[in-house]
Amino acid sequence: MNPKSNYKFCPLCRGAFEKKKLVRHEPQRLVCRECKFIFYLDPKLVACTIAETSRGIVLQRRNKEPKRGCWVLPGGFVDRGETLEEAAKREFFEETGLTSTINCLLGNYSYPGEANIIIVYQSDITGGSIRPCHESMSIDEFKRGDIPWDRLAFDTTKNALKRYIEKTAL
Ligand SMILES: [Zn+2]
Repeated sequence: MNPKSNYKFCPLCRGAFEKKKLVRHEPQRLVCRECKFIFYLDPKLVACTIAETSRGIVLQRRNKEPKRGCWVLPGGFVDRGETLEEAAKREFFEETGLTSTINCLLGNYSYPGEANIIIVYQSDITGGSIRPCHESMSIDEFKRGDIPWDRLAFDTTKNALKRYIEKTAL
């Protein structure tokens, strides 16, 4: 999602937004001309899981744009009021059919100009069986030597996999 998303109308009173600099050194904000409501374009949190079965690291092949057909770590948006850890476990289960428990935080990933902040947990699989959901073409398990590096969807997918492989090689 682009953080510069061009919202035009106030969700409270339907008044028109204008872009205003409210504080020096801060970005322009969308301010309602009518009720003065300030619409902050906050980042969006994504919680992902990296986990391994005896057959390898679990990756999901995307069935939607962007990057349809490319591989990602199972994960998704954190709901408001949900903890990051619960979101990671929920998304991992929804997308793979596997239950998991968090082992540790692998890393967090944010990029200039991007709305999404991605938190990646290293987890252990505790049960379930693999079944792809509607968001994936397939779920597969990859040995370290078989990671499809040129078919990974996002920078974060690549960076988190690299970090995980380096860390677990020690
Ligand atoms: Zn308004």
